[in-house]
Amino acid sequence: MCGFIGLIGTDAPVREVHDGLLAIQHRGQDAAGIVTYDGRFHLRKGEGMVRDVFTPEAMAGVRGEVALGHVRYPTIGSGGVEDAQPFVVTHPFGIAMAHNGNVANYDALREQLLRRARRHLLSKCDVEVILNVFADSLARQSAGGEFTPELFRAAVAEVYAEVKGAYSVVGFVAGKGLFAFRDPYGIKPICYGKRTRSDGKIVHAVASESVVLEILGYEVEMRPRPGEALLILEDGTVHWEQVVPPKSRPCVFEFVYFARPDSTLDGVSVYRARERMGEALARKVRRMGITADAIVPVPESSRAAALEMARQLGWPFREALVKNRYIGRTFIMPGDATRQRSVRHKLNVIAGEVDGKDILLVDDSIVRGTTSRKIVRMLRDAGARKVYLASTAPPLRYPCVYGIDMSTRKEFIARDRTEEEVAGLLGVDAVIYQDLEDLVAAVTAESPLALDDTCHACFSGIYPTGDIGQEELDALEKEREEVHGGQGS
Ligand code: SF4
Repeated sequence: MCGFIGLIGTDAPVREVHDGLLAIQHRGQDAAGIVTYDGRFHLRKGEGMVRDVFTPEAMAGVRGEVALGHVRYPTIGSGGVEDAQPFVVTHPFGIAMAHNGNVANYDALREQLLRRARRHLLSKCDVEVILNVFADSLARQSAGGEFTPELFRAAVAEVYAEVKGAYSVVGFVAGKGLFAFRDPYGIKPICYGKRTRSDGKIVHAVASESVVLEILGYEVEMRPRPGEALLILEDGTVHWEQVVPPKSRPCVFEFVYFARPDSTLDGVSVYRARERMGEALARKVRRMGITADAIVPVPESSRAAALEMARQLGWPFREALVKNRYIGRTFIMPGDATRQRSVRHKLNVIAGEVDGKDILLVDDSIVRGTTSRKIVRMLRDAGARKVYLASTAPPLRYPCVYGIDMSTRKEFIARDRTEEEVAGLLGVDAVIYQDLEDLVAAVTAESPLALDDTCHACFSGIYPTGDIGQEELDALEKEREEVHGGQGS
């Protein structure tokens, strides 16, 4: 999970990239970076939050009407500053690139680039592979000539043919234009927007989530679509190209947890989708015959669903868990020790709201159970009588190979366990999981998509790209264990 923004025509590159990345800081708190171009590249990147990296001193001299910004959560890369995005190459053109996603055939492509094109990589970050496949295609096809939209299209087609996995990409070709493209499955979100400067010039932008562009005052369009590419030349000409037919499979987990509730992904409001998740979960609670004195959300991602559950069931909604906003998201903190310590500092219980009551706790998902177990303990210590746990997502049982570093298979609490066994491990009276069909219905209600048109692999084990077998899963898990012991809450 990462976030990005790309701009062309901007008169305030540092301010817009800074403010845009702040709006999607939730997508990665591990590193941040910016690159602009004004006749030469100005590249700044570092580890930490946007506020740590974008200091006035670091941003001195960063100029240009074209700019990229990125916040990172590590996937393939181990997380040093050398793996922070954006990346730049200088042949056959000056090209900068950033992405959100994960390249499934990273090792094979790295070897191929070395063998075929003598291209050496500087990092373990997978966008460098995409960048070099793209640049190598341009080098062969341009044969020393000029950059053209036709060459761009051909290079994107080559990336689609060679790079497996999930990726939404933004980049620019120095002195030529800004570009963006989305893999044929459209697993990762991306959107486009434009605004008019005070001097009448149009600024074009792409970003991971619509909230970025809305905050910056852009009119937002839900494109590029899966398999579609966008090129905006310096003279303002806009080229949209459906490079390959779309096989739409957007990530349903974006709606459960990652995206901001005020974002719209592929035309679907995240907030409304979460409300629908709550509606479906309320029906299930009713079917199970469970009753409680209060519904308590685990802040923040489950709030909209919990509120809707309370409305549907007619039970009191109580914000009995209070979050310290100055501690990062538990789920995306590398390393279990950091994660465990942060849970207790991050959440506190208002004892008077739970003492002597039966509580229906609502969380967005249950990964390893580390966070849930601690919260349940806190509620019981504060006097809660019965504690039920409802999850707006179905049981997580399979690793994500598309850029969400949530856990290895053996670490999922729901793996090879019944719901009763999970409830026992978590210390709750019952666990209520969302049904997969209901989750997908909640996510696709405003769109023509159906169950088979989404990615739900972490719940179902059905990987939509069709190129993920046991070998790929084993390799991914081995790497996760080596790098930082997997993620999850
Ligand atoms: S496997 Fe899960 S988290 Fe990963 S892209 Fe698919 S739905 Fe999203």
